[in-house]
Amino acid sequence: MNGHFVVSLDYEIHWGVFDKKSVNDYKENLENVSKVIDRLLDMSSKYDVKLTFCTVGLLFAKDKNDLLHHLPQNKPTYSLEKLNPYQLLDSIGHDETDDSFHYANSKIKEIRDNGNHEIGTHTFSHFNCHAPGQTPEQFDEDLKASINIAKALGITIKSIVFPKNQINPDDAADKPYLQACKKYGITSFRGKEKSFIYNIHSTKTYRNLWIFRALKPLDAYVNLTGTNTYDARAFADSGMLYNIPSSRFLRPFNRKLKYFEPLKLKRIKKAMTYAAKNNQVYHLWWHPHNFGKYTEENFNTLETVFKTYKALHETYGFQSETMTGLTDKVKSAL
Ligand SMILES: [Zn+2]
Repeated sequence: MNGHFVVSLDYEIHWGVFDKKSVNDYKENLENVSKVIDRLLDMSSKYDVKLTFCTVGLLFAKDKNDLLHHLPQNKPTYSLEKLNPYQLLDSIGHDETDDSFHYANSKIKEIRDNGNHEIGTHTFSHFNCHAPGQTPEQFDEDLKASINIAKALGITIKSIVFPKNQINPDDAADKPYLQACKKYGITSFRGKEKSFIYNIHSTKTYRNLWIFRALKPLDAYVNLTGTNTYDARAFADSGMLYNIPSSRFLRPFNRKLKYFEPLKLKRIKKAMTYAAKNNQVYHLWWHPHNFGKYTEENFNTLETVFKTYKALHETYGFQSETMTGLTDKVKSAL
């Protein structure tokens, strides 16, 4: 099997950040998401790159009635009330034309009709699987709602990105969440990088030390954890879902760190090249709202990444695949 380039996007708009930021706090990023999606579609066509949009189910609703119609019965009972997205329902608009922060029905149809990309799920309500108070039964209902609202648009959901990457396939407590995914026909998820710096939330002793919190951003510029590339078949056989772990979060342009941008890009290009030469997978991800500010700078970076992909495709047969496309290839190669 040749090397593969996978790009997944956590498509969520305000539903992904409402517990930390109001629409006004993050307006510039959020209001440009739909333009960002258009440019992503254009640029990926130009360089033949397939994207996987793991999308929050609430965004699929065509209007408020449709949204209310699809709500799960058994909603998450988080101990922390600020994690509950349903408290926003009274304040959101009627549909995408008067509230593009909470609806994206027409954009989702555009992605669907493009035909080159995949639409997966980011759960119905941006469900926090590791938050105290919620239960696997509530996750099951949430997931069912996301499958159903997608089905109404003729979309079959087969891949998932867990919000805040809250899944640990090695932890018995997380098995029911993966089982629910399997039950509804989902075949792959995006796991985390292996290095401990990406798993600090589970080692509480270190969590609050700034030095450990600084390691993840630092790793984007300086090589701390290696390429994070892997043989796709190494993750093939959990009996549950295929894990297609992240290789890197594409950090948005940061003006304060602008002189270090070339290092960030160099690190990505080097790891992609390693994956292409060694028949491995390189999985890059981010959120469309990350590109809502400094849009030009972010798309310049992305264009270099896509050009790198194209060159590696021509030289080494590096292939672009969606999460499900790669899963299907691995299945048939085994
Ligand atoms: Zn998210």
